[in-house]
Amino acid sequence: MSTQPGQLDPSAVALLGDRAYPESQVSYGGATYWLERSADGLKRLVAVADDESAFRGFAGTTKSSDGDVRLVAETTPENALALRSALPWLKPSRFGLHTSAGFGDRLGLATPGHVRALKAVGAAINPVFAQQSIREMGRCHRTPRNVLDDATWGAFQAGWTQPIGGDADHLEELSDIDDTAAAGFVFYTLDPKAEVDPEAEHADRAAIQHKVEALDWAGLESDLPTFIKTYAGHRVDLEHEAIELDEESVCRAMAKYGPSLAHAMAMYRRLMEKGIDCEVEFAVDETDYPTKPAEHIVVVRELQRLGMEFVSFAPRFVGRFEKGVEYIGDIDELQRDFEIHAEIARALGPYKLSLHSGSDKYSTYPLIAEATKGLVHLKTAGTSWAEALRVIAHNDSDLMREVLALALNSFEANRKSYHLSCDPARIPTHPTDEEVAHLMDVIDSRQVLHVGYGAILEEFGTRLYQVWNDNEEEHYRIIADHFVKHLTPFAPYAH
Ligand SMILES: [Zn+2]
Repeated sequence: MSTQPGQLDPSAVALLGDRAYPESQVSYGGATYWLERSADGLKRLVAVADDESAFRGFAGTTKSSDGDVRLVAETTPENALALRSALPWLKPSRFGLHTSAGFGDRLGLATPGHVRALKAVGAAINPVFAQQSIREMGRCHRTPRNVLDDATWGAFQAGWTQPIGGDADHLEELSDIDDTAAAGFVFYTLDPKAEVDPEAEHADRAAIQHKVEALDWAGLESDLPTFIKTYAGHRVDLEHEAIELDEESVCRAMAKYGPSLAHAMAMYRRLMEKGIDCEVEFAVDETDYPTKPAEHIVVVRELQRLGMEFVSFAPRFVGRFEKGVEYIGDIDELQRDFEIHAEIARALGPYKLSLHSGSDKYSTYPLIAEATKGLVHLKTAGTSWAEALRVIAHNDSDLMREVLALALNSFEANRKSYHLSCDPARIPTHPTDEEVAHLMDVIDSRQVLHVGYGAILEEFGTRLYQVWNDNEEEHYRIIADHFVKHLTPFAPYAH
């Protein structure tokens, strides 16, 4: 058999069972694999090969007939690992500076929809299907390994045969590195936001002086006079302008980000000690104030001096990037912000600019795609969850009413750590069927439901998953339509 992934070999179609996913069928390394779904909704891996040795690593039942060996195996973590080893493109790999997009999937169900969107757009956008922050995994009771395995099964089911990434998103603690590295992630988003000092934004000169003097300079392998000499009075020439660095702005930048750099380096070193083939993103997008050009330069130069290599940087851009809704702010100002950060990223790297909380920000995509010339990573986290609720609203409006009531009751707890502008008081507490059908289109209910996932899944998880499993085709179609709109603006610049 061919050693290249092949699909829908006509001679093998007869092997497919009634409930097989035809697009999952793939021949590689002497075996043909596909995914089947039983009447009770359980999915099983089926494979056929000339000889049993092709199935080493899988746990399942094998049966020989007519010179073939047939494997039937459950979709367990052990078999996901074996499948990644048998079909190596399913094992996450690095994307370097290529255009990429991360699709968060809180439910572990959305990947086939993501694959459809990518295939429909047909551009060189490298997908990260496995991506979830530690905060979200906690609220969803998922482990890093669950996230990776669900993405493996989903990509396999939908017939994705190109490389895939795996983003251990928003890691804040050293132990987060250990947990996600053990699972097999290859892209590590280091987020030291807890150590970023928001007071430095408006502190007076004396307070800034005090803050920079108090930094752990030994830990930063430098000292204050050296730092000032390196940056103050220097100029960074960009393509269309120059950034002048004065002592006040570089000291303010260091007062704000200095403590976070030491913590980010500690996480980075912990990761590097593991000796795995991986890449890093540095993210400060969840901080209170926009990252100014001088701050971008100081942060990146200091990280580079300390030895961090990263493929992408997520600044905090101007305006508001709230969950699940359009960009809120002055779009011209944002365009200008994209352009200057993109120019800095090309001058100091190059590295990609990473756009977080990127879902549903349709007005921003053409701007960042053009500003970065495709040197960009788009990251969406919860929008697949929000879209999945449409399936519930459409198929079980009573359940959707219960879900909404819980989301409203638990909103004050759910909203913590999220930037939102919704007003729960504007949401109907007893919505009509017509209102239920539009809950995901209205900003107030969309955001309340968007951040309510933890409580909602805790209470209604079993019933919700039943509806999604009974209506998976509709679910994939909704997700695919939604993501085509996200990915299309990046297509002209993707490389
Ligand atoms: Zn983020």
